Amino acid sequence: STDTVVASATIASAIAPPAHRFFALDPREFNEAVADWKWPHFRCDQVRQWVYQKAVGDPQQMTNLSKLDRERLAQRVAFARSSIVQHQVSEDGTQKFLFEWNDDGKSANAETVMIPDNNRRTACVSSQVGCPVGCKFCASGVNGVKGNLTADQIVEQVFRLNEALRSEESRVTNIVFMGMGEPMANYANVMKAVRILHDPTCFNIGARKITISTVGVPTKIRELAEEELPLNLALSLHAPNEELRRELIPWAEHFALEDILDACRYYFDQTGREITLEYILLAGVNDQPEHARELSLLCKTLRANVNLIRYNEVEPLPFKRPVAQDVLTFQGVLRANGINAHVRKSRGRDIDAACGQLRRKQEGAIDG
Ligand code: SF4
Repeated sequence: STDTVVASATIASAIAPPAHRFFALDPREFNEAVADWKWPHFRCDQVRQWVYQKAVGDPQQMTNLSKLDRERLAQRVAFARSSIVQHQVSEDGTQKFLFEWNDDGKSANAETVMIPDNNRRTACVSSQVGCPVGCKFCASGVNGVKGNLTADQIVEQVFRLNEALRSEESRVTNIVFMGMGEPMANYANVMKAVRILHDPTCFNIGARKITISTVGVPTKIRELAEEELPLNLALSLHAPNEELRRELIPWAEHFALEDILDACRYYFDQTGREITLEYILLAGVNDQPEHARELSLLCKTLRANVNLIRYNEVEPLPFKRPVAQDVLTFQGVLRANGINAHVRKSRGRDIDAACGQLRRKQEGAIDG
């Protein structure tokens, strides 16, 4: 009978963790789980409202559920499961978190940054533990990739930020996959997370407000083009030609730049979304007017705009932050060629919000 099922489930839950991870379930899967418990459908909406709209992940606080249902929910579903290892708040309001999960003795961590800008609250999320790409100018690349984050670990990063934003009554409005990891190397988990973040009954974040940033995996860019979601695609270019690019981004040798650009053209044709080219300016390396002229020629072969990022120095890496005048000159050359080029504001510099730096410091502290 149902009673014995419930009773044995209760006993099992005393020793076993909850059967479901909430953030791994899309709305259909959650509905199915709840239907199995013979709950009325509106319970699903109630729980979703608490989690997604009010950023409440503790069943005990879901006060429009009966006490018994709250207990059952807590036994059956795990909500936010990470511990917050570090939380820093910058003078400019940027917040940086380091989350950690321990699943079946396997630990994973992610760094996540919340960047406020007027009414916008952008979540910069991680997709992998570490990063396989190993850009020469980046701290994350030093230790390589340790594993993929699961879809629920990706989604939970956004939930945790919403929790932190509860006190100011705001929520994450935009998402960029620009934390640690190469999203295209963890495609299935990233796409599952994107669908949950985008779903109107979940986080309800518009596809145009979600950016996937990649070093460029042509087959995956084409696959993304066919998802029927007009997501923003950002290509980490960082050099105007193949030779310099391969020096700066060792992983780039796997794919010809021309194939990547072809895939970007296909992405534009399918989605109508202009590609954003990310370009980190490194003093004396890729920030000279001749580089800007070469980049202009490349831009003219596809529908793209350019985001210029002034490098933040990372000890002990040898790269230098370019002087402000070189940044302006670089941008000026692009604009004179009709290219839409912005210089991205540097945020959270006082808390090391450049990618990979926080986690590396933490590991350094653990290693002694
Ligand atoms: Fe990976 Fe991005 Fe760092 Fe390159 S810059 S190593 S892609 S995290």
